[in-house]
Amino acid sequence: MAQAIPGDEYRPDDTARTTGWARFIRAMFITFHLLPLLAIFTGVTWQVVVCCAVLYVVRFFGVTAGYHRYFSHKTYKTSRVFQFILAWLAEMSMQRGVLWWASHHRDHHAGSDTDRDIHSPVKRGFWHAHMTWLWAPEASSPRSRVRDLSRYPELRFLDRYWLVPPLVTMIAVTVVFGWSGLLIGFVLSTVLVWHATFSVNSFAHMFGSRRFDTADQSRNNWLIALITLGEGWHNNHHHYMNSVRQGFKWWEYDVTWYVLKVLSWVGVVWDLKNPPKHILSA
Ligand SMILES: [Zn+2]
Ligand SMILES: [Zn+2]
Repeated sequence: MAQAIPGDEYRPDDTARTTGWARFIRAMFITFHLLPLLAIFTGVTWQVVVCCAVLYVVRFFGVTAGYHRYFSHKTYKTSRVFQFILAWLAEMSMQRGVLWWASHHRDHHAGSDTDRDIHSPVKRGFWHAHMTWLWAPEASSPRSRVRDLSRYPELRFLDRYWLVPPLVTMIAVTVVFGWSGLLIGFVLSTVLVWHATFSVNSFAHMFGSRRFDTADQSRNNWLIALITLGEGWHNNHHHYMNSVRQGFKWWEYDVTWYVLKVLSWVGVVWDLKNPPKHILSA
């Protein structure tokens, strides 16, 4: 048993609700993986393929710039309005509430690849780290590591009703593009965002190079960086998680950081935290 630390207690979810969510998440995963096959009957237009790609990029930006670099690690500052927009974009990816995500992720950094890490491929195997942890009972109740975030009522609302942003998106896409829009533009795009996100937890703790001798098994993986807008430089990230940029060298492409840099020029975000020079030149 890992030792209890202050602020580490579980939210008082009852067991029935916890099990209910786990079942729902598992059913949602299976359904979403099968649904795109129905496009055989609806056909696929180029507009729907573009919709799939755009929703992938926009929602991935929500995952990396929102869930990860802002809510989990506070690597930059922004307004309350843009904070809400980031949470909305992130939750459009159907990866549960913003407090849940940040809480679990902070937990991951607190004990990466130890027994307390809920999605360590080293400790629990590839598939559990990649996705089946999402419907493990201990994944259903977030630990309260996020008091800095839960003081905002609008974030508590979005966390509780995390299905609202994806449902609004799903309806909008279906109205505009019809059934193939729903199947390919929304559902297939969602599945692709899921697996790219999960590959950071699984592949990026197994395959790639290690610039820094961290206590965990995190790796720098160029392919994962490519499909995740820069999240594949995961060994860099585990070494210095307070940095807004995860690519430390000029050639370590980090699209999320480039976009945040541009947003800082127009005042949407500010106080971007960078690693010290000796880490960048390591
Ligand atoms: Zn990690
Ligand atoms: Zn992180």
